[in-house]
Amino acid sequence: MRRDFQYYLELWRRTFPRRRKLLWRDTWLRNGYCRDCRYCCGPQDDPTPFPMALLPGQLRPGLDEDFYLLAGDTAYIADRGCKARGDGGCRLTREKRPVACSLFPLVLANGGLYLYKICPAVIFTPLAELSALGRDAAAWLAGFRPAELRHVSLDLPARTLAERYIYLDIAVAYPM
Ligand code: SF4
Ligand code: SF4
Repeated sequence: MRRDFQYYLELWRRTFPRRRKLLWRDTWLRNGYCRDCRYCCGPQDDPTPFPMALLPGQLRPGLDEDFYLLAGDTAYIADRGCKARGDGGCRLTREKRPVACSLFPLVLANGGLYLYKICPAVIFTPLAELSALGRDAAAWLAGFRPAELRHVSLDLPARTLAERYIYLDIAVAYPM
């Protein structure tokens, strides 16, 4: 069953009485909420697969031991969670994690950067700070080849974007 924004707002208010820090670290977003949240690596309340495409340099034998796969180069997470999740968090080195994991709760979709609304970091961090992190992430993504950007970007319907995401008005150019 998909829980709504109000459910998560109340849950995170109880879990996080104080704000935590977010910091862009060259190739990933360091997020002080993750260690006590772990929402986005665990079972999702939506069975629709969330694709997490892998870059050519991340493809290796035995990928299916680490990920549920939509295709040979695309992992996904849904109601079973992510296979790479261990007791202490993600089992993988940062280099092996999908680009989506390095960015989250920033999400590259439909040619721009969005925020995933129900993440506690999104709920409690001022939009101006999130926007600055989005610009840092966009600068990192600008070093990707267009085909790679196309591959790691999601195509989301307008209704899904409106329900679950906040647009940062930061465009990331790649061929549609
Ligand atoms: S939902 Fe946000 S805070 Fe929670 S694990 Fe995911 S990125 Fe971290
Ligand atoms: S690869 Fe790691 S960080 Fe990414 S969803 Fe899976 S467990 Fe979480």
